[in-house]
Amino acid sequence: MATLPEPIRNPEIKYSQLFINNEYVNSVSGQTFPTINPVTEEKIVDVQEGDKADVDKAVAAAKEAFKMGSPWRRMDASMRGRLLWKLADLIEKDRAYICSLETLDNGKSFSSASGDLDFSLEVIRYYAGWADKIQGRTIPVNGDFFCYTRHEPVGICAAIIPWNYPIPMFSWKFAPCLASGSVMIMKPAEQTPLTAIYLGSLVKEAGFPPGVFNVIPGYGPTAGAALSAHPEINKVAFTGSTEIGQVIMASAAGSNIKRTTLELGGKSPNIIFADADLDTSVAFAHEAVMDNMGQCCIAGSRTYVQEEIYDEFVKRSVEKAKQRTVGDPFDSSTVNGPQIDNEQFTKILGLIESGKQEGATLQCGGTRHGDKGYYIEPTVFSNVDDNMKIAKEEIFGPVQQIIKFKDLDDVIERANRTMYGLGAAIFTKDIDKALTFAHSIKAGTVWVNCYLAVNAQAPFGGFKMSGLGRELGEYGLQQYLEVKNVVIKVPQKNS
Ligand code: NAP
Ligand code: MG
Repeated sequence: MATLPEPIRNPEIKYSQLFINNEYVNSVSGQTFPTINPVTEEKIVDVQEGDKADVDKAVAAAKEAFKMGSPWRRMDASMRGRLLWKLADLIEKDRAYICSLETLDNGKSFSSASGDLDFSLEVIRYYAGWADKIQGRTIPVNGDFFCYTRHEPVGICAAIIPWNYPIPMFSWKFAPCLASGSVMIMKPAEQTPLTAIYLGSLVKEAGFPPGVFNVIPGYGPTAGAALSAHPEINKVAFTGSTEIGQVIMASAAGSNIKRTTLELGGKSPNIIFADADLDTSVAFAHEAVMDNMGQCCIAGSRTYVQEEIYDEFVKRSVEKAKQRTVGDPFDSSTVNGPQIDNEQFTKILGLIESGKQEGATLQCGGTRHGDKGYYIEPTVFSNVDDNMKIAKEEIFGPVQQIIKFKDLDDVIERANRTMYGLGAAIFTKDIDKALTFAHSIKAGTVWVNCYLAVNAQAPFGGFKMSGLGRELGEYGLQQYLEVKNVVIKVPQKNS
């Protein structure tokens, strides 16, 4: 792992406009919206607010960039790979600044922002390698035909991304899209627009032609809705809530049957058997739900613990939660920063209240931390019942639910009793239990004796209402490709 650079406490805000056709421009309406520092609750800067008119401009630029014969369409695939590598190098060179900007806008610790950035570099470089290895097949069909497939770029893609991992979400969508030869219009979340806007300048510096990547900061119901409904956009890639995922899918279907990839919510079960190593499983279960202040789609927010070790597990989990340092995200000792905004902060405190009222035992935390910023104390509930709201709803906060279970059959059925299916984990030394669980659980990723292990090379995504399609790895690349079948009549020699 790369060493941590020195943070810049007051990073200069170099750009706060839309990025269209490789230029920073004001929005057509001239309207702006503030982006807020969640530590101080104060405005960082006013950002130009994109809307339908700006989406139309970006689509026109993207269309021009994607038309046959354009520099982008004529570019060798290997050159696309080189541009992606160049971008990764530029991002790496600028690490200290980009991570500082992220910490300022999002509130996550500087070391966590650095981890996000390092992973994003892996993703960009992984897809850079794919650019000239996208191959179709020749197929031995019946009759006198030569039949082959081409894996063509899907075209103009919209990326609508959330605020919890702004830089990774940029890389997960940008890199496979551009490796495929497609072009992109990205709407960052209203809470965290600054890093995506800045990355536009590096995309230009790397040498990507105008119009292949565009950024429209703005609100979901306006800019986001204009993207998902636009008849000339071919695909929408979305990460966010299940509720908005449904809205986007309906809009994508209604306008022009856009291809969609949806990475949505989760309520992932993390199962700890009595035979597991206790220290390891306590540590992983804690990190699984507290990482990024719980603002993580794959948060292991249902910790199922076998009854024999339940009390000891709760005791150790509480110790861990109490040790977790909460504070200024620019301090190197800080692990947890604030939640993203007042809406999330209020929602999480409301869910904690419901846990108390429904009879769960609040072991620690449960309140605001300090009196400024959207900080919440790391919270642990024991004696949680499957039917409580805190065991069913996505909390997206630093709140651990520890639930008791008896045996494998009991816990598989209960773990699957949810509309979600993003992640799941099991801690045990028994390979039989681990395999039975891994094959029975309805989730896109299953971890055994680990958690949060997400890799550039391997698919990530959800079963059921946790989403549609996959990101990362070769599976993620396929979502940016259309398969074309070409069939050619071959004249036959008679003799
Ligand atoms: P959200 O509304 O789903 O936001 C995600 C993105 O979708 C943002 O860019 C948002 O724009 C945009 N959006 C909102 N409405 C839209 C619409 N009608 N059409 C097109 N785009 C639209 O999520 P949120 O409100 O920030 O958070 C709410 C809950 O979602 C959280 O508590 C959490 O449970 C879940 N969540 C999950 C993830 C994840 O990684 N799976 C990430 C974030 C949130 P704005 O910037 O205007 O919101
Ligand atoms: Mg902000």
